[in-house]
Amino acid sequence: MDLSLTPQESEFQRQVRRWLRRNVSRRSPAEEPGEYGNPKRIAELKQWQRKLYEAGYVAMGWPREYGGQSEPGGNRRDLLMRQTIVNEEMVKARAPSLIGVMGVQMVGPTLMQYGTEEQKRRFLPKILAGEQIWCQGYSEPGSGSDLASLTTRAEIAGDFFIVNGQKVWTSNAQFADWMFCLVRTDPTAPKHKGISYILIDMKSPGITVRPLVQMTGDKGFNEVFFEDVRVPRANLVGELNQGWQVANATLSHERNLLGSTTRTQQMFQGLLRLARTRRRGGKPVSADPAMRQRLADLAIRVESMKYHSYRQLTDLLHGRSPGIAASVNKLVSTELNHAICALALEVLGDYGMLERRSRHVADRGVWPYEFMFTLGLIIGGGTSQIQKNIIAERGLGLPRG
Ligand SMILES: Cc1cc2nc3c(=O)[nH]c(=O)nc-3n(C[C@H](O)[C@H](O)[C@H](O)COP(=O)(O)OP(=O)(O)OC[C@H]3O[C@@H](n4cnc5c(N)ncnc54)[C@H](O)[C@@H]3O)c2cc1C
Repeated sequence: MDLSLTPQESEFQRQVRRWLRRNVSRRSPAEEPGEYGNPKRIAELKQWQRKLYEAGYVAMGWPREYGGQSEPGGNRRDLLMRQTIVNEEMVKARAPSLIGVMGVQMVGPTLMQYGTEEQKRRFLPKILAGEQIWCQGYSEPGSGSDLASLTTRAEIAGDFFIVNGQKVWTSNAQFADWMFCLVRTDPTAPKHKGISYILIDMKSPGITVRPLVQMTGDKGFNEVFFEDVRVPRANLVGELNQGWQVANATLSHERNLLGSTTRTQQMFQGLLRLARTRRRGGKPVSADPAMRQRLADLAIRVESMKYHSYRQLTDLLHGRSPGIAASVNKLVSTELNHAICALALEVLGDYGMLERRSRHVADRGVWPYEFMFTLGLIIGGGTSQIQKNIIAERGLGLPRG
């Protein structure tokens, strides 16, 4: 593992920093809670994604014919490094993240692997440019961890699937243009073998989206109801009844997405700043030996996480499969993010309970908000217990529990 940047990569890093300094406005740092309920903000974020894309900073490693920069037999390794640099610099610059992230990092790579040529040409360039926002229709009221038990039906009628059923916890469905969705196409087959992966236009007649309020106060996810929704058969990804395999490819991409370590590092830096500036008993909170011990413990976990992600990047650069690394990433970083927020609340003491609007609030109220939000990410994308099962069974070869 060589962690140093080449002179060309360092020059590229400086170039990205300059671009971000010019283009990230000081007044739009990081996410504002509830922004996805605001159509004006959604339009701004789509615009931001387009700008990043036009600058050449989105999904650089995708093939050129689908909107990326990779040439056949060419520069993929170099582009992967460059994309890593862009991602890290974006977090450091507190640039807004991609509104179309589920398209770029989840369904996009899945289509590249399993989609037809027509699907790739139709969807991939629009996903990159932020023109199409996607949501994930996996979970149902009775099917979360046991996803393969899902019951939303799709019956074939001529050139169409007719979809009936319900999804739940569907993030961003309130403004998504498309959904990648798991449906049961053969109810008589064993549960993993009767599922198909289809793409649904969210404007289709028969779809009702009902927002759900999270404990943060945001309406980030939804219930989605399907009543005789017609979906062209051309929107099937992979083979009929073989959707479980396709679904798992997307899940692996999702685990990597949720396991971003740059964000963890940034949160930890925020916690350190807080502990050094907040005072208790006439001294900075960070001067308390017990607190220092706990900060050191988190610092060690953050560093280990960082090196784990470098190891994963090294595997990618050498074309090796990262194995269960995506599950390790997801498990460790989501729990670590939550632990960082929990300690920040302790540093804040009673101030940690204040709402964002209070004039006494610290760091614009980000800590209590993130404490609640990061708890959700321990559950979303497969809970910690499920990641541990995957690591134990597929990674360590332990018997099924
Ligand atoms: C913020 C957030 C965003 C989400 N966004 C989406 C989305 O966009 N699209 C989507 O489809 N879904 C989404 N989800 C849903 C998410 O995927 C599910 O909540 C998750 O898979 C868990 O399913 P469940 O809620 O039904 O819990 P359950 O599966 O009922 O689990 C309940 C508890 O039992 C434990 N458990 C269950 N089975 C086992 C087992 N075999 N071994 C050990 N422990 C087990 C779980 O770990 C958990 O603690 C989101 C969830 C959250 C919190």
